[in-house]
Amino acid sequence: MSNRTMKAMRVAECGGPEKLLLDQIAIPQPAAGQVLVKIAAIGVNFIDIYFRSGLYKADLPITLGMEASGVVEAIGEGVTGLVPGDRVAYSMQRGSYAEYAVVPAWQLVKVPLAVNFQQAAAVMLQGMTAHYLTHSTFPLTSEHTALVHAAAGGTGQLVVQMAKMRGATVIATVGSAEKVALAKAAGADHVILYNEQDFAVESKALTGGKGVHVVFDSVGASTFMKGLDSLRPRGMMVTFGNASGPVPAIEPLLLNTKGALFLTRPTLFHYCQDQQEVNWRAGDVLGWIADGKLKVHIGGTYKLADAAQAHIDLASRKTTGKLLLTLD
Ligand code: NDP
Repeated sequence: MSNRTMKAMRVAECGGPEKLLLDQIAIPQPAAGQVLVKIAAIGVNFIDIYFRSGLYKADLPITLGMEASGVVEAIGEGVTGLVPGDRVAYSMQRGSYAEYAVVPAWQLVKVPLAVNFQQAAAVMLQGMTAHYLTHSTFPLTSEHTALVHAAAGGTGQLVVQMAKMRGATVIATVGSAEKVALAKAAGADHVILYNEQDFAVESKALTGGKGVHVVFDSVGASTFMKGLDSLRPRGMMVTFGNASGPVPAIEPLLLNTKGALFLTRPTLFHYCQDQQEVNWRAGDVLGWIADGKLKVHIGGTYKLADAAQAHIDLASRKTTGKLLLTLD
């Protein structure tokens, strides 16, 4: 096994998409507690752009990518419950932009037969994120109104669908007229074009002047402050992404003056702390896809070698839904 090599998209130096280079490296070997996965489909996420650009730090060189589905090729010592040939998926382990990846066994979930590899690779990271946001960070009920930014995006469409599954009212924002239909198809009750309309004013108007209970903000710098103005007293700002850049520092006193607000900056990793939590979230998400209750919208597929183009497209706001890399 150790003499065999594989294709991998690697970053040796942080920078633009051109820093993402196709390499031929040794297939890794699973150590104790690890599993070697032969990858079938790879999820592209904004976090890959952050590791490539250097916004998020890593010791270089790295193989990019945090999410994939595939087949168990080999298992390390002590691994139970998985055997070669099992269909699996995972997220939160870097190195998926490759033909094979070594993954801690506890992070892998078995993929139901009714879910194909592309669907599984599309929802492990963004689906589990939507799950923790709507079920744990702010457990939504039919009493709540949520504001969801970038609702036609990969994470956004899933957050909207899960918020609706929990009975909440959803106000969605999107960046272009073409994206309105996607937010509505995901179940949004109201859609705001936030490049043209003031979403704080609209959110207040749609809630009888009160404001929303929670803002799910993946956009960051350009929406954060106005998000605080969209909340009702004691509402919660959940800033979970930086698509437009990281949110600058604020004084805690601001949360006082804006209405005794709650502020959290969650990450998937901290909401998937052990195998039980991964199995709960991924089990729900994959189960809902198998049952047809959750739709995954794949907005584009690219060859592994074209990962840079996927990054360019994702950062340009042109894409909708989930982007995948394939190994065909
Ligand atoms: P999306 O598919 O949502 O793509 C990003 C979208 O953000 C764009 O399509 C665009 O939608 C909107 N956007 C607004 N301003 C900008 C801008 N200046 N540049 C680029 N996009 C912009 O991406 P993802 O679902 O992969 O990720 C969204 C964010 O959520 C990322 O920051 C990611 O890191 C974060 N995230 C965080 C997680 C966590 O656990 N904390 C987990 C998963 C994702 P529009 O045109 O409608 O404005």
